[in-house]
Amino acid sequence: MISRTEICIVGAGLSGLSLASRLLAEGRDVTVFEGRDRAGGRVLSERGYDLGPAWIWPHNRRMLALADQLGLGLFPQHAQGRLVFEAADGAIRRDLEFATMGGALRIEGGLARVTDALAKDLGDRLCLGQPVRRVTEDADGVTLTCDTAECRADRVVLALPPRLIGGLGIAVPDAPTWMAGHAKLVAIYPTAFWRDDGLNGDAISHQGPLAEIHDACLAEGGEGALFGFAHPGATAHPQFRQAALAQLERLFGPGAATPRDVIVKDWSADPATATQADRTPPTSHPAYRAIAPTARLIFAGTEASADDGGFLEGALAAAEAAYMRLGQPVA
Ligand SMILES: Cc1cc2nc3c(=O)[nH]c(=O)nc-3n(C[C@H](O)[C@H](O)[C@H](O)COP(=O)(O)OP(=O)(O)OC[C@H]3O[C@@H](n4cnc5c(N)ncnc54)[C@H](O)[C@@H]3O)c2cc1C
Repeated sequence: MISRTEICIVGAGLSGLSLASRLLAEGRDVTVFEGRDRAGGRVLSERGYDLGPAWIWPHNRRMLALADQLGLGLFPQHAQGRLVFEAADGAIRRDLEFATMGGALRIEGGLARVTDALAKDLGDRLCLGQPVRRVTEDADGVTLTCDTAECRADRVVLALPPRLIGGLGIAVPDAPTWMAGHAKLVAIYPTAFWRDDGLNGDAISHQGPLAEIHDACLAEGGEGALFGFAHPGATAHPQFRQAALAQLERLFGPGAATPRDVIVKDWSADPATATQADRTPPTSHPAYRAIAPTARLIFAGTEASADDGGFLEGALAAAEAAYMRLGQPVA
């Protein structure tokens, strides 16, 4: 454990990683403490399938520039064909020529390729499996208390959701952690059979347990995949998987009943992302605000960005704002 550093960043999600990589490239003395055994935070891909965020939009200039800088390919979210709509009374329509995410872009091989590349640049300046338990600011610096050691830093950037910052003994205004109350189920099939039936893979359901479903096929084709966002709390039901597969069969036909594989990630049950309060997600996108810095503490993380807060783009915008602040002397 490094015991003295100029700048300490807490959290190796997209925000903390992008800030750290920019500072390190300038030769600054920076250390990143990450609580999980992996970098990426809410960005998580398994075998190329995104279990957290998947989409970048054409107006996300920072994300597009980062993908370009890292040499990563983009491909469009599949949008050709009809959407399936399941009403609360169980009636199903398959005649709607509409794609809910038309125009969105995905990263070839999954979004974790972005965070993996940034993390690799950090080398031993990235300390994984080091949850920070307490942050204490005084006139000369900041003390970070981990499980087995303490670290002193001149300045600290807290690049994690405000609701988790509260747990470090730092008071910040409450803000819901975007998407933290949700779970994602990915069902992988030998082929994308729904495309052959003229369906685009989108479904909106008022029956559940999946509320919203999308095509999740990889760029290179081959096997097919659908993913669904589960209603909050749905994964706690012992029959969740069976119910989700029965729903996919109702919506997309018999081929959907027997996937080759199913992956589930419930973010609401992951304490490195969600708190109890996040189990009741906001009903619309919150208006996120920048969090005012103190003399030595700076707040990054997407929920601290007024620009695109909650999104990947907001994570980069917050990192950019933190970088500017670090360019100013300690107040
Ligand atoms: C299911 C889902 C779907 C989404 N879909 C999209 C999408 O399609 N497009 C989009 O733009 N955005 C989407 N988002 C939002 C996107 O994931 C976030 O905006 C972005 O990943 C936030 O990055 P961050 O670095 O700000 O925070 P995080 O990724 O949450 O990073 C915070 C980091 O801090 C670490 N940490 C927490 N506590 C401690 C501690 N005490 N000590 C040390 N480390 C700690 C965490 O482990 C984590 O690595 C989605 C999110 C989810 C969950």
